[in-house]
Amino acid sequence: WNFAYDSPIAIGKLLDREGLSMSKKFGQNFLLSNQVREHIVQILGVDETMKVWEIGPGIGALTKVLIAKQASVTAFEIDHGFCRILSSEAFCDDANFRLIEGDALKTWEPLFLKEGVPDRICGNLPYNVGSICIAKLLEGQCLPPRMVFTLQKEVSDRLCATAGDKNWSSFTLLAQTDYIIKTEFTINSGAFYPAPNVMSSVISMVKRDKPLVDAALRPSFLLVIRDLFAQRRKTVKNNLLSGKVGALVGREGVEAILEESGVAPSKRAEQLDWPQFLALSEVTSRLSA
Ligand code: SAM
Repeated sequence: WNFAYDSPIAIGKLLDREGLSMSKKFGQNFLLSNQVREHIVQILGVDETMKVWEIGPGIGALTKVLIAKQASVTAFEIDHGFCRILSSEAFCDDANFRLIEGDALKTWEPLFLKEGVPDRICGNLPYNVGSICIAKLLEGQCLPPRMVFTLQKEVSDRLCATAGDKNWSSFTLLAQTDYIIKTEFTINSGAFYPAPNVMSSVISMVKRDKPLVDAALRPSFLLVIRDLFAQRRKTVKNNLLSGKVGALVGREGVEAILEESGVAPSKRAEQLDWPQFLALSEVTSRLSA
């Protein structure tokens, strides 16, 4: 299928012919540069032995580059019209292309439970779906060695944040537990059709050899980070008191946790660093056992 993916005119004609239009609801903005797509696939590091999941393929621009590398691609697409183009036209002859139609936020998990972790995950994800999708994969421990996503810059800033930064959040901590995350490059809105109102970034996520949080500490770590970032303006003490940790160990327990982990009760979560979150998780795990 030799489609001119970089041409808004060709895309417009195809959509007209199929009676389709770009939907804002599904965050449909197609990337118009093959050079950028090639760069993304190069960062992803794909070869013919790999099972690759692509979330939100649209009409298959990035998919085509993945298939050219002979990877086995499973594409998750919600838009029925795009699915029709993908399966009956674009990749109808490709044995190493498989389409899962539906909401990727729901369809990924049954496949993961059946087939295990893929070698790579990638996608050019709409804003609302991007962060939830990544969080779901991480929470579900679907952790391939490498993932590359194009995201709204605001989301990539959260993923790459460091302690003390206003973007430092429970999402940052969840993601950095298992991955080293890097913003590879940014893409101007003009590189998309139609142009979105926001800048985008391409991020790489490379799995750590060893997670920053031990498996035994993970449940208390998740409790602690969710409580601590529940209301950013509140102190760590008040967030723990009004959260699940407070419900588990009570006021005295919360005071003991802060005391033993050496964290000042008046701090805000965004001021805490990794060693402090780990200390809080360790003491919470011990005192709530
Ligand atoms: N991959 C194409 C590209 O790079 O040009 C399209 C990217 S476009 C930003 C996002 C794609 O994700 C659209 O095709 C949209 O229909 C799809 N999408 C949006 N929400 C989705 C969801 N929950 N599950 C699966 N696909 C979704």
